[in-house]
Amino acid sequence: MSGECYFCHGLVLSGERDHIVLDGHADHQVYLHERCAAGRNVIEGSAESSERTVTCPECGVVETR
Ligand SMILES: [Zn+2]
Ligand SMILES: [Zn+2]
Repeated sequence: MSGECYFCHGLVLSGERDHIVLDGHADHQVYLHERCAAGRNVIEGSAESSERTVTCPECGVVETR
């Protein structure tokens, strides 16, 4: 499964370590590069921490990952 990054429109591959997919949203799937999301304050928490939250740029729902 792959898709376009919401921010840079580059291809996001599900095999990449660097990818984020928000798929729990009824009418949209959102693909993000972690580096793109990080630059826009979409991700809260550090990469070292197991607990991070990601804000969906499409609908604003906050997911805990
Ligand atoms: Zn990107
Ligand atoms: Zn959403």
